[in-house]
Amino acid sequence: MDQDAYLALRGIHKRFGAFTALQGIDLSIRRGEFVCFLGPSGCGKTTLLRIVAGLETQSTGRIVQAGRDISQLPPAERDYGIMFQSYALFPNLTVAQNVGYGLVNRRQPRAAVAARVAELLDLVGLPGSGARYPAQMSGGQQQRIALARALATSPGLLLLDEPLSALDATVRMHLRNEIRALQRRLGVTTIMVTHDQEEALSIADRIVVMNHGVIEQVGTPLQVYREPASPFVANFVGKVNRLQAVAEGGHWFRCGDKRLQCTPADGTAVAPGREVALYWRPEDRVVESLREDDPLHCAGTVRHIEFLGGNCLAEVEVEGLPGQPQQLQYSLNQVDEFGVREGGNVRFALRADRLRVFPV
Ligand code: ATP
Repeated sequence: MDQDAYLALRGIHKRFGAFTALQGIDLSIRRGEFVCFLGPSGCGKTTLLRIVAGLETQSTGRIVQAGRDISQLPPAERDYGIMFQSYALFPNLTVAQNVGYGLVNRRQPRAAVAARVAELLDLVGLPGSGARYPAQMSGGQQQRIALARALATSPGLLLLDEPLSALDATVRMHLRNEIRALQRRLGVTTIMVTHDQEEALSIADRIVVMNHGVIEQVGTPLQVYREPASPFVANFVGKVNRLQAVAEGGHWFRCGDKRLQCTPADGTAVAPGREVALYWRPEDRVVESLREDDPLHCAGTVRHIEFLGGNCLAEVEVEGLPGQPQQLQYSLNQVDEFGVREGGNVRFALRADRLRVFPV
């Protein structure tokens, strides 16, 4: 067991009848960390969170929190606060009664509950709203109340199950920044489930990327984005281009008329003649001081430009790559950068240091 871990999951399996939802999850989370479980629908992230909460029982495996084996403890005996996607507030209770619910259950004195509720409503930016009812509050405000309720007992662990996905984009972004700031301030170890990669990249200290009941990668946002451990992670986190290539030995690869040297993602050599896939992000290109004899030089025609606000994504038909016509996604900082237009030509070089190579 990892001595530094605040929360340690060891060999967690979960079966629902004949279906295996989780297969051998091992994970250590440090005290004060903000961790996101990220993955597509059905990958098992919610099931894993519910197992940590004791709302679901693992088929096999152990969970240790703060040195205590909680594997078989009922939810009420575990030390966490939880917030769900749907606000899950009691509609017939006031905001203050909702926030103070767990404290009243623990038979705290009335004055202490009132003081703590006021403190929490301040903390989530809703001072003075204790007498109102959930139905009188907006979606974003209701989630703040749910957050205050989850934090009421000062739990050691905060569990957030897609807490932002029912909110509109502006409120979502605002609240996610607030959750992050609050989490830092309180230093509470936090797990958030999300299927939104941008959300995970922006909020997490570490991301646990899951697929079909297994962990594909655990890493910082930068690691999972820049150094994806598998084609699945490369595809799921951010936009990526995939190019087919053939290994020539010594970390050299042939990709259409290009020859390039790069280290495979797992660092091992690929046998000559073996097919590989090169993954390349749209922004990992060089446009300055281009040389036509650069082995990674590309020339192509822009077929489409997608305006994304701060930057643009161009679909470029590139010459000399396998699988013609090969369309690459290519990132531009502005539409008029280098005078790029639909139907126009572009030249750039792929950054070899940013290519990820996986055997196929
Ligand atoms: P989503 O984002 O859609 O909630 P998820 O990654 O959180 O997806 P889970 O809810 O953990 O996925 O479900 C993982 C798998 O386990 C799914 O295939 C789901 O159908 C299955 N599953 C979850 N709960 C049960 C249950 N109580 N009985 C049977 N199968 C279940």
